[in-house]
Amino acid sequence: MGELQLKDLYTGFRDPEVIQGYAKLIEEEAKKLPNLINIMEVCGGHTHTIMKYGLQQLLPENINFLHGPGCPVCIMPKERIDHAYILAMQEDVILVTLGDMIKVPGSKGSLQDARARGADVRFVYSPLDTLKIAKENQDKKVIFFAIGFETTTPMTAALLDVVIKQGIENILFHINHVTVPEAMELLLSDEECSIDAFLGPSHVSVISGSQIYKKFPHEYKKPVVVAGFEPVDVMESIAMVVKQFVEKRSELEVQYKRAVNHEGNLKAQALNEKYFEKAQKFRFRGLGDIPNSGLKLRDEYNKYNAEVLYEELLKSEPIEDHKLCICGDILKGKATPPQCSIFGTACKPSTPMGSCMVSSEGACAAYYKYGKLL
Ligand code: SF4
Ligand code: SF4
Repeated sequence: MGELQLKDLYTGFRDPEVIQGYAKLIEEEAKKLPNLINIMEVCGGHTHTIMKYGLQQLLPENINFLHGPGCPVCIMPKERIDHAYILAMQEDVILVTLGDMIKVPGSKGSLQDARARGADVRFVYSPLDTLKIAKENQDKKVIFFAIGFETTTPMTAALLDVVIKQGIENILFHINHVTVPEAMELLLSDEECSIDAFLGPSHVSVISGSQIYKKFPHEYKKPVVVAGFEPVDVMESIAMVVKQFVEKRSELEVQYKRAVNHEGNLKAQALNEKYFEKAQKFRFRGLGDIPNSGLKLRDEYNKYNAEVLYEELLKSEPIEDHKLCICGDILKGKATPPQCSIFGTACKPSTPMGSCMVSSEGACAAYYKYGKLL
């Protein structure tokens, strides 16, 4: 028997015959539905899969996808990016963040622009990589600009845990962690909301457990299926949603059972609880203030909190997006990227005007890259 390779783990979940099989099953079941169903995939990872594998085209006309606000890069408001920019421009600071964040435009430019103007901005794959940067630059303050939903929060908490235990003096934190259920609730509170069911983000659920979505099927009567990221996962999840509608049920189900359970990762949750508490609100780009949707460091860790230590430099007034950008409507599931007047012209991945064009998980970037499949 040959050595196990990474591709062996996902090949079955991309099998065209299995995908077609689900497409047929969904088509048959969907004939029993009286109305169109709008299914929101909350997470940008799912948007990417749907676009990359052309899944919408395999579905009958009465099953429609709406793209949601589940990409941490897309929802970062301009004023928070400005914070990162201002901190990065301080002479004795190295600003560290994750991936695509450095390309998102704030009102002063992106972190990439700050770097071009002499700032020391670095990106890491894991927050713990910040430790090495801090050790090699003892004369600098290394500020970790933390982003992400429930998925990445424990990694930031783990970094702070090491910083405290090892008595590291030169790492500070700017926290921008947000939580998914409050954003989903905000979308449902909109009178024009047309969401009928959700595909629940799976990485988030590995940490928090599927239990965070239980109010949606019960209180709001919106079915939720926590879905894996491969195309077979998504198609199976759609079949599960359709079955619920045919059988007139509204339940929380987990398709991605190979990684998600009801309670989630209790150890990670305890670490989060130790260092973070709910902030009163967090402003999501395009969606506005969402109560209880953000996290902040607990007050006893203020000496590590860059937002407190640099308070005088950092403003919190909202800064509006480019007036032609409709990222807000896209994140609410009210519009699709081609409806934006500057999609693919003034706004492209090389010159993004809004955040949905920046992140590889953003809806506009996914349409730009895979839109020819439509
Ligand atoms: S972190 Fe996970 S859940 Fe969040 S947008 Fe990325 S892939 Fe989706
Ligand atoms: S195409 Fe660009 S400007 Fe238009 S909504 Fe998307 S990100 Fe915003």
